[in-house]
Amino acid sequence: MQTGKIGVTSENLFPIIKKFLYSDHDIFLREIVSNAVDATQKLRTLASKGEYEGDLNDAKVTVKLDAEAKTITISDMGIGMTAEEVEKYINQIAFSGANDFLDKYKDDANAIIGHFGLGFYSSFMVSDTVDVITKSHQEGAQAVKWSCDGSPEFTLEEVEKENVGTDIVMYISDEEKGFLEDSKISEILNKYCKFLPVPVIYGKKKDWKDGAEVATDEDNQINDIAPAWTKMPADLKDEDYKDFYRKLYPMGEDPLFNIHLNVDYPFNLTGILYFPKIKSNFEVQKNKIQLYSNQVFVTDSVEGIVPEFLTMLHGVIDSPDIPLNVSRSYLQSDSNVKKISSHINKKVADRLHQIYKDSREDFESKWDDLKIFIEYGMLTEDKFNERAMNFFLLKNTEGNYFNWEEYEKLVKDTQTDKDNNTIYLYTTNVEEQFTFVEAAKNKGYDVIELDDVLAPHLINKFEQKYTDKRFVRVDSDVADNLIKKEDAAKDELTFVQKQELSPVFQAVCPADSEYQFIVDFQDLGETGSPMVITRSEFMRRMKDMSASQGGMSMYGDMPESLNLVVNTTHPLVKQVLDTKDKKLGTKLEKLGVDLTAKKDEITVLEKAKEGKKEEEIPSAEKEQLETLNSELAKLEENKRGQLSEFGKESKVAKQMVDLALLANGLLKGADLDKFVKRSVELIK
Ligand code: ADP
Repeated sequence: MQTGKIGVTSENLFPIIKKFLYSDHDIFLREIVSNAVDATQKLRTLASKGEYEGDLNDAKVTVKLDAEAKTITISDMGIGMTAEEVEKYINQIAFSGANDFLDKYKDDANAIIGHFGLGFYSSFMVSDTVDVITKSHQEGAQAVKWSCDGSPEFTLEEVEKENVGTDIVMYISDEEKGFLEDSKISEILNKYCKFLPVPVIYGKKKDWKDGAEVATDEDNQINDIAPAWTKMPADLKDEDYKDFYRKLYPMGEDPLFNIHLNVDYPFNLTGILYFPKIKSNFEVQKNKIQLYSNQVFVTDSVEGIVPEFLTMLHGVIDSPDIPLNVSRSYLQSDSNVKKISSHINKKVADRLHQIYKDSREDFESKWDDLKIFIEYGMLTEDKFNERAMNFFLLKNTEGNYFNWEEYEKLVKDTQTDKDNNTIYLYTTNVEEQFTFVEAAKNKGYDVIELDDVLAPHLINKFEQKYTDKRFVRVDSDVADNLIKKEDAAKDELTFVQKQELSPVFQAVCPADSEYQFIVDFQDLGETGSPMVITRSEFMRRMKDMSASQGGMSMYGDMPESLNLVVNTTHPLVKQVLDTKDKKLGTKLEKLGVDLTAKKDEITVLEKAKEGKKEEEIPSAEKEQLETLNSELAKLEENKRGQLSEFGKESKVAKQMVDLALLANGLLKGADLDKFVKRSVELIK
């Protein structure tokens, strides 16, 4: 037996490996199994060149768990090592690699994020002792056993071994005995080794018999050695892609469609990306793309490698050109990674464009599910935005889809305002904004649906880009005013009439509402609604945006104001005016006279003050002015009070406001109940 010291300079290497080299201890299995797979493939290469004669048809990697002996053994039928090779690859190279690695990253424990690097030595993260029993494929090679207990000393001795290949025996330490659980090993193999290119066997297939699980004679192969992404697109049918998707996400709904990536220059990249079926809530869907390196699973967090908006896609990417043992920030500045990211970006846009061109119908049928990705991409990636304008669709309330140019053509004539802006009318909820949608349609306008969380941001983006277009929500004004064609129409009511009606209607607005109501007057025509509630486009957009950005901003906190638009030509409004005149007529007239008289007095005094300095005005005059002003305020208060009282008693006024609230889904609970009862009374 030979003993010796492995080629390390640091006595403390093992504690370092154990402690923080890999925060995720699970990966030791991935490292050892992928070494076994590599060894098998190397021997295959030799065989294909005629340098090895043995039979490799049944070559496989076997994982064995012996809970009693507390060992995990990985056996392969690969290339094997001679004593010299063990000396070279295990004692020298692997360790020197480890030294380099630690040297480079010793100041930055975070940079060591645990992606490949130390391979074989990661076995010491979980083992007290590791044995390597190996027989080289070379003619007449002597098998050897290397053993090391985690100190820099090792032993190397000649042993008997029947087959060519290598067994790695790991004696699992007490601290890590969790790895002696069958379910744990299954889970790790399933995560990391599911698509390795050489069969990996773990135990026997299980079967259900008389309500219990029993082992069969059949090997339990845990991997698919030729997953779809390693095949040529021409060899795959739609169904194959779907099958593969189900393999990746057994619980998922079928995807909308897929994109097969296959690049070999200037970098190596294969993979299949899927557009999943999701509608909103896209945040939770992230981390579904799996990253592989030569069919070995690496991670499911692909930020930095895939453009942000595409991290919502599903599928796999396999590239040996993505550096793995580096930190995220380094990764993002890597030139290969940048190229890969922009390649994927372009591929996705091209594919969408192609589907749009080849089958517009298919594309339209998937649009509602797709748009969230496309909108997200358009908002975050300028390059994608440009490309996406080729296939971005607008859907109107009739359920018809238009591309950008088609829609422009559709509305250009009818929806251009007096300032030559094309007005795109939209609704965020057809049900809730039904009356407004109908009113707009009755005017011959078209209304599009923009109903997802990203829509407000997208609208801003469009308005920035196309300065002659405006997006206006259908309920932001009465239909007549949505698109201002000419200057304000004639007024039916006098200023005083409006002034008097204002407190009447104000008095019947819900007092305890989260909204603030502002009474306004417009001519909506005799056949229009007597009263309409609208919400300012600007205010609402600011609110929507602060809601979708999560935090509470200034606009989030503000009570929202609603405009209560009184139809100045509606007969009901006239009726309210008439009733008011009947009930309050003389009183108001008297008040009116008093008010005018007070105002005159005030005007006289104000005039006298003109041109005088503050100290020149006699204090008696000042006092008189103050008194007059407060008397005036009282008179006005009195008038408002009378009008409010009248309003509160006017069933018609109340009914009008409630109807407007009802049309906006704002009449609820007790108020709704009262409305119903009042309606019955009015009909009687
Ligand atoms: P890497 O795999 O990154 O080269 P490792 O530390 O995992 O680094 O392995 C070092 C070397 O040891 C490998 O390059 C290979 O030559 C040799 N080796 C490891 N495992 C095996 C095995 N199962 N069969 C044959 N050679 C092996």
